[in-house]
Order: sequence, then C-alpha cells, then structure tokens
Amino acid sequence: MSDHGDVVVHSEQDEFALELLAAGRPLADSLGAAMTGFVAGSGGLERARGLITHGADAALLLAVDESSTDLDHTLAALEQVARERHPGVILIAATGRGTELAARLAQRLGVGCAGDCTALSMIGGKLHIERTILGRFLCRQIIESRPAIATVQPRRFTAPDASPDRQGPVARIEAARPAPRLRVLGVRLREAGGVRIDKSEVVVAVGRGLRSREDLAMIEDLARALGGVVGASRPLTDDLRWLPPEAKVGLSGVTVRPRLYVACGISGQIEHNVGMREAGIVVAINSDPNAPMMSQADYRVVADLYEVVPALTRALDGLS
Ligand SMILES: Cc1cc2nc3c(=O)[nH]c(=O)nc-3n(C[C@H](O)[C@H](O)[C@H](O)COP(=O)(O)OP(=O)(O)OC[C@H]3O[C@@H](n4cnc5c(N)ncnc54)[C@H](O)[C@@H]3O)c2cc1C
Repeated sequence: MSDHGDVVVHSEQDEFALELLAAGRPLADSLGAAMTGFVAGSGGLERARGLITHGADAALLLAVDESSTDLDHTLAALEQVARERHPGVILIAATGRGTELAARLAQRLGVGCAGDCTALSMIGGKLHIERTILGRFLCRQIIESRPAIATVQPRRFTAPDASPDRQGPVARIEAARPAPRLRVLGVRLREAGGVRIDKSEVVVAVGRGLRSREDLAMIEDLARALGGVVGASRPLTDDLRWLPPEAKVGLSGVTVRPRLYVACGISGQIEHNVGMREAGIVVAINSDPNAPMMSQADYRVVADLYEVVPALTRALDGLS
C-alpha cells in the first residue's frame, strides 16, 4: 500500500464495476497505489476474480450468503474496509443503490463525497472530479478528505479488456450483518421493463415533435430498419407516458453511447443532451434549423419528421 492508500472500486452491477477499473487505474498509478475491487453478494469469488482479470490488483469479498446482500451489510463492510485499510479513494458506480451507499458511507466516515462524476484525476495526491450540475454547468471539485469518495456515472468509461492470466489475491471481509431496519416484502420485474436503450448500438429517439401516440409506429419502424431501439425525451415518457421511463434519455433518464443516435423532433435541451452527447454519429431531424440539437448533430435534416422518417425507413427497407 502506498502512503496515499489504495483505490477501492465497487458496484453491485458487474458491468459498471469493470468500468470503474478503467476510471480507477490512472488514479492508482498516479498515487503509486494498488487498485482493489470490492465485491458483495452471490457468485462473489468468481466476480472478484473477474475484476482481477480485468485490471484490479486485488479483490475484497464480503462473505455472505445469497440472501443477505442488503445495502446496510455492504455499507458496514465498506466502512470496515475504509477504517482498517485506509484507502485513498473509493469509487462507486452512480446507480441508485451506489449513490445511497456512497453518501451514507461518506457520512459515517465524515469525509467528502462527490456524486455522478464524469471525469477524475489525481493532482498532488488529491482527487479532482468533474460533474454536471443543474443540467448545464460543468463543476470541478477537489475532495480534500481521505478517503475521497466519488460516484462515477455509468457508461463514462470503457471496461478494460480481460487478461485471463492476470492473478491477484482475493481476501474475505468478515463484517457483521446489521439488524435490518427495512423489510423487503417482494421484488418483481416492472411490467414496462424490457427496453434497454443503453445497450443498443442504434437509438432512434423521439420528442415532442411527434403529434400522437399512434405515430410512434413510424419511429419504431425506423428503429427496426436500423436494427435499433426507440428512446425518447422527457415529455414523451413522463408527461404523455407514451413510452416507459426506461426509454428516457437524459439527466433524469438514461445515458446512452450508441454508435448512431437519430433525434426526431427533439429540441436538444441540455437536460436531454447530457444523456446522449457521447453518441458516435448524431442525426437530427427537426423542422427548426436553430434547435439546439442541430449544433450537436453530425447530420442535420431540416424537415418535417413526418416526411423524412417514413422516407428513410422505405429507403433502408429497400436496401435489404
Ligand atoms: C430537472 C430536469 C430534468 C430533466 N431531465 C430530462 C431528461 O432526462 N431528458 C429529457 O429529454 N428532458 C429532460 N428535461 C426536460 C428538458 O428540459 C426539455 O423540456 C425536454 O427535453 C424537451 O423535450 P423535446 O425536445 O421533446 O420537446 P420540445 O423542446 O418541445 O421540442 C420539440 C422539437 O420538435 C421539433 N418539431 C416539432 N414538430 C416537428 C416536426 N413535424 N418535424 C420535425 N421536428 C419537429 C421542434 O422544432 C422542437 O425542436 C428535464 C428538465 C428538468 C427541469
């Protein structure tokens, strides 16, 4: 361990834990420290080894049976890790659970915590972060305390490739499980579930330029022709409820990084654009040439989406 302490990364979702390894590596290198993955829950040993093959130097495993990975238990274990091992930095993926975990951990330790970070660097042994606030300001912060705790926006970093031969120690953490303060009565899949816009290489997103729910078929046709899925701006998911919340792109929705993002009748307000600005190629179809989405776009189609979208679909269908 370096004088600055290790970098510890954790997410309950393995794909985000791998992304944290990419975020954490430059920090660990800059500190001359090791990077340690923290894993809790079922399949822990295999997942811990997975973190090591993807770049962690070591892993810590909260030894629990499958049913006891409640947030309080993970919190107690992470607190124990922080108090006993004195890490320099703790990175947690900014999922709903991760956000709560990080905030409560920081409160227990009395240290600083920055949420939803999009960039991180280590300068003079201190963690510097960038995050978007109020939808439109880029805020830079230094976390003065140790450990510095930060949650990292999912899909900001690309998971490192695996090196199957990579080896490292996996240590078990024995943390007492606190008496539960919440009782889970049941968990079931939301009926509207199923749309994973964050997983698709192509997202055809639609906004308030659409006049009726029935017209969604036109957008779905284009998404199908492009081999993609349908995303939406907030008015269509939250106000009109024409699409499920999982389809919402943006600040209060999902961050997507598809290879192709087609924005149909979306003005491109900052709250929307923060969720798609990492997209590869952006095509904007909008009747207003001055819509902010146009300045985000690689291809600008100034036209009525009711003409362009079906024409595009016909052209694509004609190719197949
Ligand atoms: C705290 C907060 C969080 C928010 N989070 C999100 C979020 O996560 N995601 C999100 O999307 N929004 C979010 N919003 C809302 C955001 O500010 C915008 O209001 C919203 O994105 C606008 O949606 P829109 O572009 O579909 O609608 P509008 O702004 O009304 O734009 C409609 C666009 O369609 C174009 N148009 C109209 N008719 C046609 C046509 N026939 N053909 C082509 N173009 C046409 C218009 O020129 C216009 O540009 C948030 C707001 C707040 C305050």
